[in-house]
Amino acid sequence: MRLDGRTAIVTGGAKGIGLAIVQRLAADGARVMIADIDEAAGATAVKESANIGEVRFTSADVSERLDVHNLLAKTIDAFGSVNALVNNAGIVHVADFLDLEEADFDRVLSVNLKSAFLCGQAVARHMVDQISQGEEPGSIVNMSSINDTFAIANQVPYSVSKGGLSQLTKVMALSLATHGIRVNAVGPGSIMTDLLASVADKPEVRTQILSRTPLGRIGEPAEIAAVTAFLLSGDASYITGQTIYADGGRMPLNYTVP
Ligand code: NAD
Repeated sequence: MRLDGRTAIVTGGAKGIGLAIVQRLAADGARVMIADIDEAAGATAVKESANIGEVRFTSADVSERLDVHNLLAKTIDAFGSVNALVNNAGIVHVADFLDLEEADFDRVLSVNLKSAFLCGQAVARHMVDQISQGEEPGSIVNMSSINDTFAIANQVPYSVSKGGLSQLTKVMALSLATHGIRVNAVGPGSIMTDLLASVADKPEVRTQILSRTPLGRIGEPAEIAAVTAFLLSGDASYITGQTIYADGGRMPLNYTVP
């Protein structure tokens, strides 16, 4: 139980990679608060996690400052403190650059990048306060993507948001290191979730993904959850400011697996 006694917030934790993280952290001994806009999926997630550990749900749009404020207050009320945060919530918008609307650019940046700033700052301020009262420093993980470096032409705001998230990870790590708070990111390749299904719905897209993936398969949410749990745990005590890629060895667009 390497996360025994820890309390965690997982944004976007009602489904997909977030839910796998929630269940992995709970299995490792943490008490977990899911923050998500999907209340029905959140209720199902809590029910399905009941036999694993203590998992609760708060309805929150993590791109909204007030929702983030309420989320932190509810989590402290439920668990006493917060010492782990996973900024996982993310959305994608598919459009060619020339057709992209300003509102869609802003929406994706708000959900994927600004939310990590809002939640990261709120939770880090709480952690610093807790440390001054003698608690162990906590840890933060941001869910980036291989597309922080490999941009996708028709996913402009998504690619920009993930590049920004990897940079945010570095500046947060630098800023919070003096307090002992570690901040890292995970960069998944293609992982089997609703989000992937929404952009890789055609067999030719799947073939193209696999042709660039040396391990020859789409990843599972549990494989991302395992890396996240490691980064939050004491086993990663000397790692900060890093993006760890879990992508089956993904190569750039012009590469084909031999
Ligand atoms: P998903 O669509 O299955 O789940 C995303 C969750 O986030 C949903 O439960 C959704 O309701 C929630 N959410 C969306 N907007 C929110 C908001 N404003 N506030 C709170 N919750 C919100 O997606 P996923 O594939 O599990 O992706 C999770 C993260 O992993 C995302 O950041 C995504 O960019 C990243 N990622 C996914 C893949 C992949 O192949 N699936 C690859 C690289 C990175």
